[in-house]
Amino acid sequence: MKQATLIIIKPDGLKKSLTGNILTRLSETKLEIVGAKIVKVSRELAEEHYKHLKDKPFFEEVIRYIQGELHDRRKVMALVYWGADAIAKCRQLAGSTNPEEADPTTIRGAYGRITTSGVYENVIHVSANEEEAEREIKLWFQPDEIIVELYPIKEVIIKEKKIRVWA
Ligand code: GDP
Repeated sequence: MKQATLIIIKPDGLKKSLTGNILTRLSETKLEIVGAKIVKVSRELAEEHYKHLKDKPFFEEVIRYIQGELHDRRKVMALVYWGADAIAKCRQLAGSTNPEEADPTTIRGAYGRITTSGVYENVIHVSANEEEAEREIKLWFQPDEIIVELYPIKEVIIKEKKIRVWA
């Protein structure tokens, strides 16, 4: 069954110039990239994305991490991968959440680390399951930024909305 998953290359991945390596590893899945962009993560987006961790002692640290405040790199790369068993395939390649426990042949095992102050720098995010994938993809992407119709779409007319266009 075809599935979609959100992938985020986190600020440590960008800072360490790992984008190419990570995309090469992900290409082993033979999945299709159907959306991709560079995002400057707002506090609001970070908190919504990680809302399931709100009560964890490391919540504030995770928010600062995904916003790039720990790496002086205030951006991430967000992608949508699509195809058969996308979530399981990408999570398997990503490896365990704790980069020190992750199998060394996985992305997190190869490129992640735990800092001396205890931050899990694990270079990549992959949606946990189909429900989370839908929630996250809808949070990070608008329908027109994805080249296939993953979820039902409706058309609305928005009047007097200020948008930026090329001058
Ligand atoms: P994931 O789906 O494997 O990313 O795991 P979670 O959704 O549980 O956690 C989200 C992110 O929070 C992880 O990718 C880590 O960056 C961080 N994190 C999770 N668990 C811990 C922890 O026990 N300690 C610390 N410092 N960070 C954690």
